[in-house]
Amino acid sequence: MDTDCLFCRIVAGEIPATIVRETATTLAFRDIDPKAPTHVLVIPKEHYADVATLAQGDPGLAGEVLAAAAVVAEDEGLLADGFRLMFNTGPNAGQEVFHVHAHVFGGAPLGPMLCR
Ligand code: AMP
Ligand code: ZN
Repeated sequence: MDTDCLFCRIVAGEIPATIVRETATTLAFRDIDPKAPTHVLVIPKEHYADVATLAQGDPGLAGEVLAAAAVVAEDEGLLADGFRLMFNTGPNAGQEVFHVHAHVFGGAPLGPMLCR
């Protein structure tokens, strides 16, 4: 655990979150400032800074994060109308929290893939 990391502190139970799914290796909780009707973050409990570090360091765990995101999408009723998974990575993507997280967006048309 990285004691300076917000999401590690959520994993440790030190900061409250609205948890929607937990497995031995992953945690999913609602984004505190939702950008869509459904906006859930899915993280590995183990600290990796971003999706590149995770995928290269532990591809199996990266797969578990994706599998958890798919179950969250199903549980949130997003499979029929669709959803978007997003991993902001680094400054050009505007990553703010450096504990890898998949954003699960859904519940309404999500607009173009990128804003200009
Ligand atoms: P990113 O810009 O991809 O790093 O996304 C960080 C996300 O974390 C943003 O959508 C924030 O709204 C969200 N966030 C920040 N603090 C919390 C928190 N305490 N609980 C849940 N979500 C949070
Ligand atoms: Zn962390």
